Amino acid sequence: MPRQLLFLPGPVMVAQPVVEALACPLVDHRGPEFAALLARITGALQPIFGTKGDVVLLGSSGTGALETAVANLFSPGDCVLSCAVGVFGKRFAAIAERYGCSVEPLNTPVGAALDPRALEERLAADTHHAIKGVLLTHNETSTGVANDMAALASPLRAHGALTLVDSISGLGATELQMDEWGYDVVVAASQKAFAAPPGVAMVAASERAWKHMEHTTSPRFYFDLRHAREAARHGQTPWTPPISILFALDVALQRYNAEGMDGASARFARYAGAVRAALERLGFTFVSSPDAHSPTVVAAYPPEGVDVKELLKRLREKHRVVLSGGQGELAGKILRFGTMGDVHDVDLLGAIGAIELTLMDLGHDVTPGAATGAAIEALAGRVTSGVA
Ligand SMILES: *Cc1c(COP(=O)(O)O)cnc(C)c1O
Repeated sequence: MPRQLLFLPGPVMVAQPVVEALACPLVDHRGPEFAALLARITGALQPIFGTKGDVVLLGSSGTGALETAVANLFSPGDCVLSCAVGVFGKRFAAIAERYGCSVEPLNTPVGAALDPRALEERLAADTHHAIKGVLLTHNETSTGVANDMAALASPLRAHGALTLVDSISGLGATELQMDEWGYDVVVAASQKAFAAPPGVAMVAASERAWKHMEHTTSPRFYFDLRHAREAARHGQTPWTPPISILFALDVALQRYNAEGMDGASARFARYAGAVRAALERLGFTFVSSPDAHSPTVVAAYPPEGVDVKELLKRLREKHRVVLSGGQGELAGKILRFGTMGDVHDVDLLGAIGAIELTLMDLGHDVTPGAATGAAIEALAGRVTSGVA
């Protein structure tokens, strides 16, 4: 398999020492080495979640943990407010519907972040506290939108419903103070900001969420969070875990912590800024509104006349630069450029150069180096016109 440059919003480029950890000899998952591994991983995750509570690991991708959150926290018939701002938020709502919840959407225009005032108004109108839970997305990967989780926290706390947060592409990239801001369940996954291979999801829950789980009636077995917490307290997982992925995640988290959360967040934001500067120079426009840009994924509409599917295909086939397309109603209409993973300035500049070259190949009028130049200016910290 020739090396590709992955600029996806997950999975992402994984550093060589992380890949090598996958080849380590396996250990007994009921033995002391595994207990130490689990303790290191959860110990590294707690400050990133902003919690002193238990963080449990699941052998699944992120979606499995979203389903776990719903299955453990709600019972059939519960009224749940879905604050989806894109495809992933809608997936979270679809899971709740499948579990028999009565889901009410709070609609937000495409590209906008969830408006704390709109949320506050809806919750204030719920004087009888019919709404039992609120589904939120920290960072909406389909539109490149980041929600302001600090600003959303106070109306949510005032109402008191259980708050479930999909932070799969947010955690580790932008601050989330779970305990301080009062979020009840936060979900993350290995293959995004932590730059590990896919296969492990993480769930943290508040004390009241753990208590609430004792009384919910949705069926669950493999993904029963109570079993997961009980096993974790004995240095184990209830079932055989993906040990090799956990070896890799352990190394990835050590690398993440060596850089520090501030360093990693600044790196993602710096790359997102450079990508936006470059794409803007090429005539792309952004799906996300200017006050809602995500640091981990840039979603952009191509300029008039550019076939984005053909652009992505050629980038992949000719330059081995792999970007994402759109999802849902944005399928075939946008590209998405992820900024997480083990990538460096030269990788980013190479990818942007490849976009310029491919657009020229496709017969578009491009000034060679214009977008790369804009990216270099942004990476060098020089602010150019119109780019935040
Ligand atoms: C990637 C992602 C998911 C889906 O995760 P899988 O690991 O593919 O199941 C869910 N929500 C968000 C916000 C994501 O970015």
